[in-house]
Amino acid sequence: MTIIANLKMNKTNSEIKDYIMKLLSRYEKGKHEVVLCLPFTSLTTAKFLIDGSDVKLGAQNLCDDESGKNTGEISGEMLHDIGINYVIIGHSERRTKYKENAKAINKKIKIALKNRLKVVLCVGESLADKNLLKTFETLKTQIEDALKGLYENELENIVIAYEPIWAIGSGKIPLAKEIEGSIKAIRKVIANDFSEKASQKIEVLYGGSVDNKNCNTIAKIKEVDGLLVGGACLDAVNFSQLIKDVKV
Ligand code: PEP
Repeated sequence: MTIIANLKMNKTNSEIKDYIMKLLSRYEKGKHEVVLCLPFTSLTTAKFLIDGSDVKLGAQNLCDDESGKNTGEISGEMLHDIGINYVIIGHSERRTKYKENAKAINKKIKIALKNRLKVVLCVGESLADKNLLKTFETLKTQIEDALKGLYENELENIVIAYEPIWAIGSGKIPLAKEIEGSIKAIRKVIANDFSEKASQKIEVLYGGSVDNKNCNTIAKIKEVDGLLVGGACLDAVNFSQLIKDVKV
């Protein structure tokens, strides 16, 4: 399984040092693909600290331009240069708070892939979409817009995270059959736009209020290839326990 921690805008560099030391001292190598998506300010420190472990590092964003006049932004090349493996793109907080649109998400994905970064593409419906029974329609639009112009072989470096917006940080989780249904719908879009083989191969994670109590139950849901964890990754001891508790 792939287990991705999204630390969001939490922890200073000194706190990250402590976090990684605690996590690594409790960490069992080789069990899962564990990825820590950290604030930009801690990525180089973290790279040094995880050396020799199989923990991977991810950024939470990158610029939709390659270089140059983009004050305050970080490029794909800069992330690759410091040895970052993954980048989250299209998180609902960026789509809503920072008005990241479909075109920018598509550009970011292309830049990430060009710089050999693995993309964690977040998609998910709002509560309004869900209530209007528009979940599958929303997922189809988000995926097709994000993956426009990509070749099938590039999907090998894309992981899709299904994150219903209403489940993020709310303590609410869709029913198992809803998660399974949404991930099947995601695979159907990939099958239609690329191939059946690609739809079966692509990794699809679930994210939204995953915690120490529900992680293994969610991980066992058919179609779920991994977890994206927000709030429950912030405490290194709890998160290392969560990693152990995922038995799939
Ligand atoms: C997230 O925002 O990506 C997330 C998974 O958050 P949480 O686990 O806190 O719902």
